[in-house]
Amino acid sequence: MLTPMHELLQDAKQGHYGIPAPNVFSRFTMEACLQAADELNAPVILGCPGVFGIEEMGELARFYERRYPKVPFALNLDHGGPFEHIIRAIRAGFSSVMVDRSTLPYDQNVAESKEVVKIAHAVGVSVEAELGHVGQGNEYEETRDAGLTHPEEAASFVEETGVDCLAVAVGTSHGAYKGTPHLEYDLLSTIAQSVDVPLVLHGGSGTGDDLIAKAIACGIQKVNLWTDLSQASNMAVKAAIEADYAPDVDPNKKKTNACQYDEMGAAAYKEALKHYMHVFGCVDKA
Ligand SMILES: [Zn+2]
Repeated sequence: MLTPMHELLQDAKQGHYGIPAPNVFSRFTMEACLQAADELNAPVILGCPGVFGIEEMGELARFYERRYPKVPFALNLDHGGPFEHIIRAIRAGFSSVMVDRSTLPYDQNVAESKEVVKIAHAVGVSVEAELGHVGQGNEYEETRDAGLTHPEEAASFVEETGVDCLAVAVGTSHGAYKGTPHLEYDLLSTIAQSVDVPLVLHGGSGTGDDLIAKAIACGIQKVNLWTDLSQASNMAVKAAIEADYAPDVDPNKKKTNACQYDEMGAAAYKEALKHYMHVFGCVDKA
């Protein structure tokens, strides 16, 4: 059932587990994520980036809600950029929106996040914001330290904005890491003690199972995933294409068709997500 994200995250906070937030951008990826959740009896947060069909994803979520009625899931606008994207997501039936103003000065981040909270809460939609800045893995060593979240600012930010959950920068990064990921667990624990709302870890991919499990033990409830799932999907399709087009294969032999490649990719996406559901401790928490 399509559920407000804050309800899923409050349950996770009380139960001390994490919920994966995989990116979805097609019917294949959305169904793969809901199948994984259905098979493991787990909650899941679908993260739709604003650059991929906001209205289509809203329609698809309602379709798959009927096909997988037992799965508690949220549909979240991931890294909500332009104000227009955020409003379109709310109108398209998303149960949550992220307003990402993490590159702006603190006061501006507060003002713009607060505005979105007022609008979203009026229609029962949850809001995620980011304080500090989670950067890109290819510049990890250069940008990691400057982006870290300050606990006192986190407390006042949550108080001033009324957001339902907060994405924090504690040493992770988006995409593949250039260098070795190292997380600030003391900082994370201090932030978790400073705010009441659930905390979000962006850049889960490539961080490592043990490091993420420890972050969840220190107070993270939502972990965003993209690169690892995408990579698993790509590898499955690559293996199938290489097998179809190997030099020694009869050129007249029937090839895998495009739809089957999509299905193979989605199956690998699903298995990679299921692995993380076990790591995050959310199996049988639906
Ligand atoms: Zn992110």
